Amino acid sequence: MVLIKNINVNKKKDIDVEIWPIGGYSECGRNMTAVKVGDEFVILDIGLNMEKVAESDLEIHLLSPKELKLAGALPDDSMLKPFAKQVKAIVVGHAHLDHVGAVPKMAYKTYDCPVIGTPFTIQVLRNLIREEKYKPDNRLISMNNGSTFKVSENITVEFVKMTHSTPQTAMVVIHTPKGAICYANDWKFDQNPVLGQKTDYKRLRELGNEGVLALMSDTVRISDYSRTFSESLVKEMFKDLLFWLKGSSQAIVVVTFSSHIARLITILELARNINRIPVIVGRSMKNYISAAEKINLVNFSKKYKIFGGKGKAEAMFKELEKNREKYLLITTGCQGEPGAVLTSVANDKLSFKFIEGDQVIFSASTIPTPINEANRAILEKQLRQRGVRVFKDVHVSGHGGREDLKDLISMMNPMHYIPAHGGLMKLSSAAELALEMGYELGKTVHVLSNGKVLKL
Ligand SMILES: [Zn+2]
Repeated sequence: MVLIKNINVNKKKDIDVEIWPIGGYSECGRNMTAVKVGDEFVILDIGLNMEKVAESDLEIHLLSPKELKLAGALPDDSMLKPFAKQVKAIVVGHAHLDHVGAVPKMAYKTYDCPVIGTPFTIQVLRNLIREEKYKPDNRLISMNNGSTFKVSENITVEFVKMTHSTPQTAMVVIHTPKGAICYANDWKFDQNPVLGQKTDYKRLRELGNEGVLALMSDTVRISDYSRTFSESLVKEMFKDLLFWLKGSSQAIVVVTFSSHIARLITILELARNINRIPVIVGRSMKNYISAAEKINLVNFSKKYKIFGGKGKAEAMFKELEKNREKYLLITTGCQGEPGAVLTSVANDKLSFKFIEGDQVIFSASTIPTPINEANRAILEKQLRQRGVRVFKDVHVSGHGGREDLKDLISMMNPMHYIPAHGGLMKLSSAAELALEMGYELGKTVHVLSNGKVLKL
């Protein structure tokens, strides 16, 4: 690994730079972009479309690439495969499965190059690869935010610290002889993060002053005409709610995202403050927590019980059923996924069953697709029929709102703006914002779709 201090790429300006949108430009998920610099490529993210695998969330490692492809869960990289030998690096910006989850499935025997990510992202990827039957043997390179890595004479990768809903998220900057390509997918501006530090605004402005050739950014919350608020607000919401419920003799179940380590810190801490033992159930949650502990990002001091799946937690469910007032169950399943722990409890499929007065706290948003919304509506109906108390929306998003995006574009002042991570509606809405800021459609702001190459 070569770490260099000054970014010293060849300043030949006549080299071709192209953006190859492979996944995540015609849907929200399965993110994958290739940047072509001369005759070399760098891949940015290889993610899953989680909606297509939600039902089998806990068992993705058992599904073959062929099965996942048929389900529409993988990006279609057929346009890039003939150039696979020219791919010099796969760079992953953060540890969410819609950005990194398909690396083990698609790098195997196709892309013979290193995978570069921050230490947490690489550790999560390592855990994912460990579970696979056919393990890709790509070299995994951990690089901290604020560092650079020279991939080739014409390509240097830099990581800039960004806040998001999983630790050590990076804006990936590809320095090319033609200028910097900045990939902010995903991010928010959190002024008071619960874990980690604020976005490196100084470096964003520096890059803006040096000249950014293109900026790509997620558009997940583009329809939110606001700014996304800080994770520290969720901590206050939890304090208020859990102390309100303190002393209850009924079950408390918190449903959240497995990758949200900051949120888990809040919940674990407060569970003990209301004298309940935190119990975590879920394969994915176990993967993320073990990655965070392995790189010493957190130390939960083992003051919780953790089970890597429903089967392994059988005895614990029996104990929960008998002594529901002693524990606080933390699990996933906010989309109402048929295979998730919460859905299984609601359907009486486990030894722990809901009774009247039990409490379920949803600390996550539902990805707004018809299937998810239908599943979630069914789940909530089942819970209410049982007399379960439901507390919704104890959550803030990990994605910037429309006003945040405006600030990012102003800060970086890119020559080209390319909205990403969304279908046509979201990308167009972000393009509209850029038009308001003086960009020109098709000239300096580009609405791409999967497979449509953009030459810069
Ligand atoms: Zn993300």
